[in-house]
Amino acid sequence: MKYRLLGNTGLSVSEIGLGCEGFMEENCGMAKKLLDTAESYGINYIDLYSPNPDMRRAVGAALKGRRDKFVLESHLCSVWKDGQYLRTRKIDEVKAGFEEMLRLLDTDHIEVGMIHYCDSLKDWQEILSSGVLDYAKERKAAGQILHIGLSSHNPVVARAAVETRDIEVLLFSINPCYDLQPAGEDVEKLWADEAYAHPLVNMDPDRRKLYELCEERGVGISVMKAFGGGDLLDAKLSPAGKALTPAQCLSYALSRPAVATICCGAHSEQELADCAAYEDISEEEKDFAEALAAFPSIRWKGHCMYCNHCLPCPSRINIADVTKFYNLTEAEGRVPETVREHYAALEHHAGECIRCGRCERRCPFDVKIRENMKKAAEVFGY
Ligand code: SF4
Ligand code: SF4
Repeated sequence: MKYRLLGNTGLSVSEIGLGCEGFMEENCGMAKKLLDTAESYGINYIDLYSPNPDMRRAVGAALKGRRDKFVLESHLCSVWKDGQYLRTRKIDEVKAGFEEMLRLLDTDHIEVGMIHYCDSLKDWQEILSSGVLDYAKERKAAGQILHIGLSSHNPVVARAAVETRDIEVLLFSINPCYDLQPAGEDVEKLWADEAYAHPLVNMDPDRRKLYELCEERGVGISVMKAFGGGDLLDAKLSPAGKALTPAQCLSYALSRPAVATICCGAHSEQELADCAAYEDISEEEKDFAEALAAFPSIRWKGHCMYCNHCLPCPSRINIADVTKFYNLTEAEGRVPETVREHYAALEHHAGECIRCGRCERRCPFDVKIRENMKKAAEVFGY
């Protein structure tokens, strides 16, 4: 298993993480089985969005004696009321839900306290005005939350939250189809037939800016819905009209800036093992570029998709990384110090480009790579 730093949190997390969708199976008996499987593959990142008390109790029991092996991303504002899931911003309910969460999980802290499901700016304002964010900060000061997160499907809302600098981790829905869609408050519209009834070109700029902002600010992204709820794996259900493989979906999400881990919603030990198998497959199997380039009615053109298809470069430039760092400077309108340092750490730099053009012949997305290398060399000075 490969591990990545989750933004600036200092947490080292497995690229393949685990969502809790399957934990409720077999009267929650599946929670222990999935944690056993996760541990055996080195999967250490677990998202717990559900407030189901039986599930939380089962996870607490399954964590006994190995709590330190897992990084828990558990949700505030996701509470259990009258036998049902409820998303709430009422501070009394949020507090009671958080205390119950710790009790049921039988732990004195969670690594990531994820403020649950915020898809509108109005709701984000409510999180601020109702005291939810202040409560999360208070619990952080008390050591019960190590890092504060927010989950969202809306890049505009997520960016507003990241701009506050209080959010350290973002749980965000990322897949190649969502990435084409404009920001909105209704997650259902991201998958609606009408959203794909006209030709779509390139990643939505708000999404691109969000990923770049997170990378620049050191906000780690954990990913949900990488397979579009499974629909992307089936040509009949995929809004793109063509199926992707699980490896292509994982590779796509893992290639976005700031992404550290993908929370896979496995329902069985075999499903989780299949996700973990991503670590052992070839680069060809992970390659998503040609599959995306073959989508009917959807085109990616002129913007780097960080797919690495353009390599090898005779000057050994990592073109995707150089392009990413250059894009970060464009997003900020200046060269942030962290980006300057990351660029300096590359073994080869844009200034070494000999303008041979081989990369452009290989790029499936018509990126003007030579022009980008020239601009990057000007911006960074080498
Ligand atoms: S320049 Fe083209 S081939 Fe290279 S990483 Fe970007 S999109 Fe992929
Ligand atoms: S044009 Fe520049 S970046 Fe592209 S392959 Fe040639 S040397 Fe490398």
